[in-house]
Amino acid sequence: SHRIMLGPLVAAIDQGTSSTRFLVFNSKTAELLSHHQVEIKQSFPKEGWVEEDPKEILQSVYECMERTCEKLTQLNIDITNIKAIGVTNQRETTLVWDKETGEPLYNAIVWLDLRTQSTVERLINKTPGRNKNHLKHKTGLPISTYFSAVKLRWLMDNVAEVHEAIVSHRAMFGTVDSWLIWCLTGGKSGGVHCTDVTNASRTMLFNIHTMDWDPELCKYFGIPMEILPRVRSSSEIYGLMKICSSWKSGELSGVPISGCLGDQSAALVGQMCFQDGQAKNTYGTGCFLLRNTGAKPVMSDHGLLTTVAYKLGRDKPACYALEGSVAIAGAVVRWLQDNLGIISSSEELEKLAASVCTSYGCYFVPAFSGLYAPYWEPSARGIICGLTQFTNKSHLAFAALEAVCFQTREILDAMNQDSGIPLTQLQVDGGMTSNRLLMQLQADILCIPVVKPSMPETTALGAAMAAGAAEGVSVWSLNPEDLTEVTSEKFEPQINPEESEYRYARWKKAVQKSMNWET
Ligand code: ADP
Repeated sequence: SHRIMLGPLVAAIDQGTSSTRFLVFNSKTAELLSHHQVEIKQSFPKEGWVEEDPKEILQSVYECMERTCEKLTQLNIDITNIKAIGVTNQRETTLVWDKETGEPLYNAIVWLDLRTQSTVERLINKTPGRNKNHLKHKTGLPISTYFSAVKLRWLMDNVAEVHEAIVSHRAMFGTVDSWLIWCLTGGKSGGVHCTDVTNASRTMLFNIHTMDWDPELCKYFGIPMEILPRVRSSSEIYGLMKICSSWKSGELSGVPISGCLGDQSAALVGQMCFQDGQAKNTYGTGCFLLRNTGAKPVMSDHGLLTTVAYKLGRDKPACYALEGSVAIAGAVVRWLQDNLGIISSSEELEKLAASVCTSYGCYFVPAFSGLYAPYWEPSARGIICGLTQFTNKSHLAFAALEAVCFQTREILDAMNQDSGIPLTQLQVDGGMTSNRLLMQLQADILCIPVVKPSMPETTALGAAMAAGAAEGVSVWSLNPEDLTEVTSEKFEPQINPEESEYRYARWKKAVQKSMNWET
């Protein structure tokens, strides 16, 4: 059949908390040519526990690649035009597998998981002055259930298979990026065990100044360094794809995997926030505001994290970011759907909330996994307050959307205080930004415009850019002059700032009530 000739294409694997996607972009125009998405099951085996099946994650990647390649073939686009593949992933989620059998030794412990709360409290109690920021000077992070080291510690202490594999030198640790790259480059027959600096910076074992694993941190958590992946830059050839050739996607065999970024870093790159001071907020399962601080790591005085933003090439400098992480954003929508049953789809939430356009004084703090930034309070729990006889599910739906906006406002305030230069507009992306009411509400609550790119897949775009720009691939230019103009939509604030301040003050009172719930 006749196949259309195109310039070089670059693909991205986007393995998120709630779904996996495979996407193919034109490297000259950044146009999205084809993609496929598969939902991921999350299991909640005990209160506060969140797990995913590593094999299902891997299988979902294969399925997305296969379906996308079929779609490309239907479009008469030659799969051999794909010159590189980038990987972006949910960060911190922790896996251990056996390098000889290739089998995972336990489910993936998802970043939101709270099982390590008592371990974290014990670690903090041991520090001088009970200081959760005891390791911050090296890691940029507070000691929290969020990061991989404590999850890995839990696996070593509680899963016999993990313990045995470590003792017999068969264990490999990794975040989702490492698991996927190892499997896709051959797995037990020669797979590459690596991670990139952005993912490594979320483990609490990585020193963000030396840009390498830190022996002292590993000792602190009792983790043997031989199980750690090799740390590479975010843009270089890690290895070549090896896939069963009977599938359509078998044609991807031999394509270099040459980009790797944690999802929030990838979104920063995809939004082209390459300048010091530029920021983006991504609304997915959680919500993550990152502000580029350039070549120097800035330590926050207001509860933000210091993290590696990207390092786009082995010989390129690392860029850092200040980050405000909110655990529960889109997850509250899933909760209203799955646990309360007041909506049957996420789209329905918008209709319900829009039917009233007010919470009628109801405030919903979804502190399901404790509170992350700026509080870092693991014992906080969700509350709904301000209910009256009049309150109905539409008000609750509105309060849920408002909660996402208030949490972002708290992060933005912290960010502005840390940097001293207030943001004048907010660039946004992520699954929840398809909700227009949410976007308008966000502009109203921040009192600054909210700007959303028309191509919503910025996380995948960032990973594709990193892969396409890698040395030895070089089909994507990251020169600002060559970068494609992106079209976007702007939401301007519409309510008066006093109204906005009043609601925000009420929200803050509700947050206080959600804290120290168990003490
Ligand atoms: P992740 O990368 O964390 O998997 P995505 O960026 O794919 O997340 O976004 C998915 C999240 O967005 C889900 O939690 C879903 O409930 C939420 N979501 C998707 N569409 C909407 C919508 N129209 N309104 C509100 N929430 C939505």
